[in-house]
Amino acid sequence: MDLSYSAASESFRLEVAAFLDANWDARAAAAAPDRREREAALRRKAVECGYLYRGIPRQYGGSEQQPDILKAHIIREEFGKARAPMEIPGVGVQMVVPTLLECGSQWQRDFFVPRTLAGEFRWAQGYSEPDAGSDLAAVRTHAELVDGHWLINGQKTWSSLAHKAHYMFALVRTDRNAAKHAGLSYLLLDMKQPGITVRPLKQITGDSEFCEVFFDNVRTPQDWIVGEPGQGWAVSKTTLSHERSGFIGSAATSVTLFGKLVELARNTTLNGKPALEDPVIRERLAMLDGYVSAHQYSSYRQFSMAAHGQDAGIAPMMNKLVNTRIADDVAAIARDLIGASLVVAPPLGKGGGNEKWVNQFMGSLGLAIAGGTSNIQRNLIAERGLGLPRDISTEFLSKAYL
Ligand SMILES: Cc1cc2nc3c(=O)[nH]c(=O)nc-3n(C[C@H](O)[C@H](O)[C@H](O)COP(=O)(O)OP(=O)(O)OC[C@H]3O[C@@H](n4cnc5c(N)ncnc54)[C@H](O)[C@@H]3O)c2cc1C
Repeated sequence: MDLSYSAASESFRLEVAAFLDANWDARAAAAAPDRREREAALRRKAVECGYLYRGIPRQYGGSEQQPDILKAHIIREEFGKARAPMEIPGVGVQMVVPTLLECGSQWQRDFFVPRTLAGEFRWAQGYSEPDAGSDLAAVRTHAELVDGHWLINGQKTWSSLAHKAHYMFALVRTDRNAAKHAGLSYLLLDMKQPGITVRPLKQITGDSEFCEVFFDNVRTPQDWIVGEPGQGWAVSKTTLSHERSGFIGSAATSVTLFGKLVELARNTTLNGKPALEDPVIRERLAMLDGYVSAHQYSSYRQFSMAAHGQDAGIAPMMNKLVNTRIADDVAAIARDLIGASLVVAPPLGKGGGNEKWVNQFMGSLGLAIAGGTSNIQRNLIAERGLGLPRDISTEFLSKAYL
């Protein structure tokens, strides 16, 4: 496998590095009171030069570049080296924007996309409910049209950062008489209005990153629907495909995490010696190294195939499952290395020492659930990827309710 870049790619790399050299000083920005303004200014310049929001048309605030996976990769690498901010993180840019570009109306794109790209609008995802997670189409939050507005009642749960969001994209039931999947619609709504109660949930780490959201006669204008009434299931699948293919599946995260684990083993004493010299720990690390390397080379292969316009088959469907499985294995080894100090390190997960592994341990449980659980990923790989017969429970559900 030849992993070197061509001369043209190397020259593009130099161009991006020179841009960052001229426009970004990570150390100065970190200490500056106007850090956010500096980040925003860099993003604007980077869009002008074609480095950020590459797939988004200029009319909506993107840089409208031809798809070029190698260039995108080089930009990520150089911005990473310079510790420069890239696109605004979060579900707004990663999920709402592509969904609106694919399925939204013209005014929705004009109004929401540029402000979301600029970080002015923050979003929460309103899919899950207490009895609708893996079986997402079971949502019961209901909306009906009254005097030109959708009137919404019900409850969402596990909505990440809903307490900080300006808007929510929500999957709701608009026709109780239609078949299960056909009665759903995809609504956008303003989070700052009477009738919405947001209750942050306390997590095992002590943080509160996600929330319950209650709707009591909440209103959203009739044309804040994405797609037609009853098309919510199709639109929500568009959003989910961006969630799963995007930020959860990268092999780079696994490689970095594994490196930190080896460092931990090097610096932890076991039976009077560095744990890295312990034969049992070495064997576990070696086995995990095999999985991490396989994942990394698979991602190089996917990358290379995408660069040549080829279809990588089921490999991309496996990324989230493999990544979260590795995070889980890393957490298990870290837990055994740190031992009892894991449970007595107050406050949970805070501080720069071994306590941060507490957060990694607790967080790895959530990663395997968010965006579709590992079991659901396995079902998707088996059914859609390998063409195996449908899971018996979904087969039953479809017969019973569709
Ligand atoms: C960190 C985090 C952030 C999240 N953020 C959001 C958010 O912003 N917005 C949002 O709407 N939701 C969010 N979620 C919710 C997430 O989408 C759901 O938790 C997930 O879809 C699982 O649903 P559930 O929790 O109801 O579990 P359930 O669906 O009740 O599943 C329970 C168990 O049963 C298994 N199971 C269920 N059905 C099957 C099947 N057919 N075959 C095999 N096994 C099955 C599951 O794998 C799981 O182990 C978040 C979750 C986490 C952990």
